[in-house]
Amino acid sequence: MIRPAIQSMTGYQPGEQPRRGKVIKLNTNENPYPPSPRVVEAIRQAAEAGLQKYPDPMAGAFRLRAAEVLADDLPQITPEWILCGNGSDDILTILTRTFVGEGDLLRYPKPSYVLYKTLADIQGAQVDVVDFQADWQLGERFTAATDRLRLAFVANPNSPSGTVLSVAEVAKLADSLPCPLVVDEAYVDFAEANCLSLVGENPSVIVTRTLSKSYALAGLRFGYCVAQPQVIEQLVKVKDSYNCDALSIAAATAAIDDQAWLKQNCEKVLATRARMADAFKDKGFVITDSQANFVWCTHESRDLKQLYEDLKSAGILVRYMSYDGWPEGIRVSVGTDDQVDACLAML
Ligand code: PMP
Repeated sequence: MIRPAIQSMTGYQPGEQPRRGKVIKLNTNENPYPPSPRVVEAIRQAAEAGLQKYPDPMAGAFRLRAAEVLADDLPQITPEWILCGNGSDDILTILTRTFVGEGDLLRYPKPSYVLYKTLADIQGAQVDVVDFQADWQLGERFTAATDRLRLAFVANPNSPSGTVLSVAEVAKLADSLPCPLVVDEAYVDFAEANCLSLVGENPSVIVTRTLSKSYALAGLRFGYCVAQPQVIEQLVKVKDSYNCDALSIAAATAAIDDQAWLKQNCEKVLATRARMADAFKDKGFVITDSQANFVWCTHESRDLKQLYEDLKSAGILVRYMSYDGWPEGIRVSVGTDDQVDACLAML
């Protein structure tokens, strides 16, 4: 019999991923530029080396290189502090399965990443959803001790708002919470600061990252988390045996190795983001202070569902989102300058 917890679920609805026609795609926060050329070369070499054997179950090559790169922010890091996954969604799944069982409680803010609820639902767990304050900060309500609270998620930068909590604020949340805190840093390379140092200070902090956004590899599926080794040891028991394939491991290792490419790409995205933010404001939208590769726009009088439909008819996809108790909005990913100009012209 299908478990009742699954039967009653709606299921996660990912953004539209059209496969046909010419679309300007600004709806799922992909990078508009191709990845580092080293990535393609690494995939070619890995394919030529042969795919008949299983991949390294721990993605050792990536862990080794990532530990070197991440040591700038977390000096004590070694490969044992890193777990790789099939996108950071896989990592979030592993974390939920590790910490949250049937009847337990998972806490996260609203509005935020919709997948968190799906992960709790699959476990037959309850959710405790805490609204952001008007200034996009989280008050004491977020850290309240509650029976069976097992895990808390916070996306930083947050989606859809792009707003951030300061490192000091996240440290305070982690110290006050009676359960581990997952800091979902999917968009952190576009932000001014990251929370990696907190992992060294507090064994309850777990930072998740992805190569889908700043490394322009959403099609590849590679993410990872950083936590103290005794936590990683437990997570390894829960992951699929070979959750990252050989081509992805080779590609991701090449990608994280090319930090010069990352820096240049982020600079381009940030310049376009600033221009977009100004233009949306000029057109009467209310926007948040985004530190991610998208802009969250609300409007006092315009029908944004209609605007989303009109843009879609014109071949421009943005994400329309409406959260209970919050003004509806559209989230527009930072595209190339030409894509953004086409979108702005339609407004
Ligand atoms: N966290 C947040 C906040 C996201 O917006 C996304 C992208 N949908 C992810 C995690 C997952 O990204 P991926 O699975 O591509 O690594």
